[in-house]
Amino acid sequence: MSDTTTQEKKLQQNHKQSPYDSMLARFNQAADIIGLDQRFRDILSVPERTILVNLPVKLDDGTTRVFQGYRVVHSTVLGPSKGGIRFAPFVDLDEVKALAGWMSFKTALVGLPYGGAKGGIALNPKVRSQDELERITRAYTRALKEVFGEDSDIPAPDMGTSSREMAWIFHEYSRIYGYTPGVVTGKPTHLGGSKGRVQATGWGVMRSTMQAIEKLGMDPKKITCAVQGFGNVGTWTAKFLKDEGLKIVAVSDHTGGYYNEKGLNISDAVSYVRVNGTLSGYEGATKISNDDLLTLKVDVLIPAAIENVITEKNAGDIKARLIVEGANGPISAGADAILESKEILIVPDILANAGGVTVSYFEWVQNRRGHYYSEEEIGEKTYPILYEAFENVWQTRQKYNCTMRLAAYVVAIERLATGIDLEGNF
Ligand code: GLU
Repeated sequence: MSDTTTQEKKLQQNHKQSPYDSMLARFNQAADIIGLDQRFRDILSVPERTILVNLPVKLDDGTTRVFQGYRVVHSTVLGPSKGGIRFAPFVDLDEVKALAGWMSFKTALVGLPYGGAKGGIALNPKVRSQDELERITRAYTRALKEVFGEDSDIPAPDMGTSSREMAWIFHEYSRIYGYTPGVVTGKPTHLGGSKGRVQATGWGVMRSTMQAIEKLGMDPKKITCAVQGFGNVGTWTAKFLKDEGLKIVAVSDHTGGYYNEKGLNISDAVSYVRVNGTLSGYEGATKISNDDLLTLKVDVLIPAAIENVITEKNAGDIKARLIVEGANGPISAGADAILESKEILIVPDILANAGGVTVSYFEWVQNRRGHYYSEEEIGEKTYPILYEAFENVWQTRQKYNCTMRLAAYVVAIERLATGIDLEGNF
């Protein structure tokens, strides 16, 4: 079966607006604000390492197919590189490079002792059997066995992967080097995963949304919200925001948007997807298109799917007052200025979705100490980190009179540049 569906081809076309260029555009704008020395610009605008692997894997029908995989290490200045692995048909080097850079900025911004990396394999997990996915994941792990390591490069889940794939990576790596749970995070809790990791990114998106709502002086009970993307991040974000009293009027997945002006029953929609695989046919809402969802008249918009869904083409039509980026790179660099002129507040990806990697950090700490925390302890440790990062970005925004996005980059770049400087030149 083909690895690319029609909807995915469309996403792929949007995707052709290079996410890496989008990342670099913001990096350069932030570097200009602080007059960053050329040396740091040169170092930080390219990845430290770019690895491409070709993985011959036997399919269930007996044929062999070669899958292309990537791992890009953007920076290890502040610690071992950290970042997820994405399984999607449109994965390419440009995207993985952008995502790796965002991970370095994210970990630096939040203050974790990590650098940034990202990996990916170009495949459609929906058309691959569990056995095929296991063989592909194990082949990828073997191909990158010298790159991965609990002190060098630590993968985690991202789009199209979950605790299941992380268990395979952990197991395959441990077969080679002996028991090493800290080599990968986002594992099942039975195998050393952390309590709270599954919902961590969505929980963090909710926390930063609530912090932004407070800054804007809005009343949570009167807020309407649309969430684009109903995967791990979108579902948990929608659930947590509903628990906080927001009215979630629309959600979407690759089959389209689902709108109910009275507010959706999120647990009901999640159960529906669990049974049916997608939101298609969900009766608690009216069907709209994914494009319509983005331009709905709502107070808060949460893009939680993929890159470049808000571009120069539709930015002018966005009506939300606040956008919180659950996904990495959902707004193209070209759309930033349009949204800014409309005075829409954007909580940028590297801040908004940092809850995932923060709980990943605590998973790694627990694995290395062999001492495990309760879910409550994880929440108590994670919350102040995310809260402080938000406040820091807010103050930096005021200091430089710039957007939250550029302020977040400024904080991250300053920390990375300081690290590079302190390391010395030789
Ligand atoms: N893939 C997630 C992200 O983009 C999590 C990374 C991690 O936990 O290392 O932040």
